Amino acid sequence: MKPKVLIAEDEAPLVELLTYNLEKASFHAQIARDGEEALLAVEEHRPDLVLLDWMLPYVSGVEICRRIRRNPETHHVPIILLTARGEEDDRIRGLDAGADDYVVKPFSPSELIARARAVLRRTRPAFGKDLLTFGDIAMDLVGQRVSRSDTPVDLSATGFRLLRFLMEHPGRVFSREQLLDSVWGHDTYIEPRTVDVHILRLRKALNLPGTDDPIRTVRSAGYALELKNQLA
Ligand code: CA
Repeated sequence: MKPKVLIAEDEAPLVELLTYNLEKASFHAQIARDGEEALLAVEEHRPDLVLLDWMLPYVSGVEICRRIRRNPETHHVPIILLTARGEEDDRIRGLDAGADDYVVKPFSPSELIARARAVLRRTRPAFGKDLLTFGDIAMDLVGQRVSRSDTPVDLSATGFRLLRFLMEHPGRVFSREQLLDSVWGHDTYIEPRTVDVHILRLRKALNLPGTDDPIRTVRSAGYALELKNQLA
């Protein structure tokens, strides 16, 4: 799965240069050309990373940064600010508003891509891996196979996506709505109760004799991937 990068930038030549280089580096690039478009795109497409121009029409980069951080659905999305200004003050304001990093224009595409990879590694360590492990559970993302204590586990396509998402964020509690958005997609109309059904199936598939239930139900909050022997 290629990381989705939203380029929020109004300078057409820079957008073109970034799109070309990001796609070449195995990112999936999406574009927003002003502040309003950027906010909509973040809500609708849930990018894995936002490259955010400081000076955007309609809504400024720093304001977008704040709004992304304020929204519980998007507050975790990493942001790299693209700033034309070299002044220390602006960079500090950007970082204060919640940006993870910044680059000062003009920058080379390879520098930006290196920063993008570094931010993704820091914020989502599972990115770019072919194998995910959690306790005795292993997921082969290339071969689409799952095993627990070396015993193969049979999952549906949805079960696989759900487990993958949980394994990419171990220990974090997700509400049914958050899981629906992240695993099924923002545009699908499925009842939150469907998540319970899939969690139940996933549990059944994973809970081999003699193993602990890796999924914790957090009453009225949601679900998290946790193993007792992992908490020490
Ligand atoms: Ca601009």
